[in-house]
Amino acid sequence: MVQATGLTVLGATGSVGVSTLDVVARNPGRFEIVALTAHSDHEGLLAQCREHRPRYAVLVKDAAADQLEAALRREGLDTSVLRGEQALADVAAMPETDVIMAAIVGAAGLLPSLAAARAGKRILLANKEALVMSGAFFMQAVADSGGEIVPIDSEHNAIFQSLGGQRACRDRGVRRIILTASGGPLRERPAREFARVTPAEACNHPNWDMGAKISVDSATLMNKGLEVIEACWLFDVSPDQVEVVVHPQSLVHSMVEFEDGSVMAELGHADMRTPIAYGLGFPQRIESGLPPLDFCGLPPLTFEPVDTDKFPCLALGIRAARDGGRMPAVLNAANEVAVALFLDGAIGFDEIPGLIEATLANFEPGSDADIEAVLATDRRARELAKSAAQARKRRPA
Ligand code: NAD
Ligand code: MG
Repeated sequence: MVQATGLTVLGATGSVGVSTLDVVARNPGRFEIVALTAHSDHEGLLAQCREHRPRYAVLVKDAAADQLEAALRREGLDTSVLRGEQALADVAAMPETDVIMAAIVGAAGLLPSLAAARAGKRILLANKEALVMSGAFFMQAVADSGGEIVPIDSEHNAIFQSLGGQRACRDRGVRRIILTASGGPLRERPAREFARVTPAEACNHPNWDMGAKISVDSATLMNKGLEVIEACWLFDVSPDQVEVVVHPQSLVHSMVEFEDGSVMAELGHADMRTPIAYGLGFPQRIESGLPPLDFCGLPPLTFEPVDTDKFPCLALGIRAARDGGRMPAVLNAANEVAVALFLDGAIGFDEIPGLIEATLANFEPGSDADIEAVLATDRRARELAKSAAQARKRRPA
């Protein structure tokens, strides 16, 4: 029997976290859960502690950590509760952790994911925002520590698989990377109706069941903009080598085209358990819980160009990728603010791109010197995005 892999799941109670633990449960004896983390959902984390018996459970919020601690004591479970942001980074870097699933949403995932990178861990990277914000520092930390990244975002996982389980593209005859996009829930909705789109409609993705933030990103197509930036860092390619094509069935998860005209693609169900199982088992294949693909029962696979006039967030993402430096971090911060305001009902769906563009206009593309400077850029961009939203509210319609 091989030794169990020590696994820490950051963002265990979220959509990717829950799918990760589902795959773990299907592979008994293969993983030992070192730590599970969440922001404040103590009940969700308690249920996961009962089933997976982690050594540590981390909650960012103190009051939630107190509740979890009391409940674990009542039930006689010996999981230790840690609290606060620093504890996220601590469990990501501790020696018992061999592999981390980085599945916190947004910029909050940066420091814990970076701690794992510095500690030389194998990082199963779902938290694309960390890479978008600080790609240069993140990739350098992985290279310096001898760590490893296995992409979990389905497109990047498909590219990784199409490259034969490697990230390197250089000198391997790669002509271009083709990211597929479902087009999101508003693909067929006319742009003139975007002012009326509700958070529930924007989150109602036709193919994927995901957390609220990435669901809105999929509706604006900012998700694809972030993914272009993510692809540039992961595979060391320029934005001009990355193309986006709409593929509404979400069966082809992305493709790599080579100089000789060969195109390698990965196909499968639109279910994150496949890329998650790939990452957890890598380089072996393990059970994910998904049934075989019934090829004769599949809908026709179709491809169409993206309408960036209708979805300007994708164009903003590509522009930030080309500008480089701090612009992707600004883009990410402004987008997180805009999405949160939209989910709170404070701005319309149609106002999201304008708010991000207005924030980007305050910055020059030079590079930040270190991670502290990246975090300062992130904070400044958030403030500017919030004031831009306030200013719009005050302006008469
Ligand atoms: P989610 O909202 O469902 O879950 C987020 C998790 O992070 C939760 O466990 C939550 O407790 C935790 N969290 C939230 N804010 C936090 C904070 N400030 N500090 C610490 N923990 C915090 O999100 P998700 O859909 O699972 O997405 C997670 C990441 O994976 C995102 O970066 C997303 O872009 C990426 N991703 C998700 C999917 C998907 O299918 N859901 C697919 C590809 C990539
Ligand atoms: Mg994706």
